[in-house]
Amino acid sequence: MTRRLDAKKIVVASHNAGKVAEIRALLAPWGIETVSAGELGFPVPDETEETFEGNAAIKALASAKAADLPALADDSGIEVDALGGAPGVHTADWAETESGRDFGRAMARTHAALLEVDATPPWHARFVCVLAVAWPDGHVETVRGAAEGRVIWPARGTQGHGYDPIFEPAAGDGRTFAQMTEDEKNLISHRGEAFAKLSSEILPARG
Ligand code: IMP
Repeated sequence: MTRRLDAKKIVVASHNAGKVAEIRALLAPWGIETVSAGELGFPVPDETEETFEGNAAIKALASAKAADLPALADDSGIEVDALGGAPGVHTADWAETESGRDFGRAMARTHAALLEVDATPPWHARFVCVLAVAWPDGHVETVRGAAEGRVIWPARGTQGHGYDPIFEPAAGDGRTFAQMTEDEKNLISHRGEAFAKLSSEILPARG
């Protein structure tokens, strides 16, 4: 049986201010108070699993146990079929440089890897977003959203973040995620789908 959240306060298990703000906005209609792992000064746990579910659970459990409150974590990335699902759970790592994250470089690396394996377009890919809710007793629930599409080159668009300029969703009209407004993207995105499942399956029913 799926366990539902009935807490008035939860921890958002993230140190990323953008992610925390997005999750706070989602939870606002439920009147659930949030505090983030970053604000509480919790250490950043190592993401040692090879699945989005595993890494989302690591983050949510670490915060739930440290705060003795339920916690919500998000783990996401892009899987490119011709690269055997890479970068997958290592999506953020592909952007790491000595001076911080560089997504222009991460996108160029993705394109270079496709050329390296001589992959024939269309380069099928999907964005995945897993949300995990953990309780202090160790129970975890996860939901997954995915957006199918393809990697394109050269990049198009300036909105959004991360790999958005090289991802053209199949459910769209030929624009990349970076050529859409945030609302347009949320309607068809992996994160939009995961949040919708979280709302209907795990958050309390709204009367
Ligand atoms: P996480 O913080 O470990 O979950 O890293 C997720 C990685 O996937 C980050 O590098 C993001 O830039 C990338 N990513 C996740 N969702 C999206 C998206 O909607 N657009 C572009 N990049 C994304």
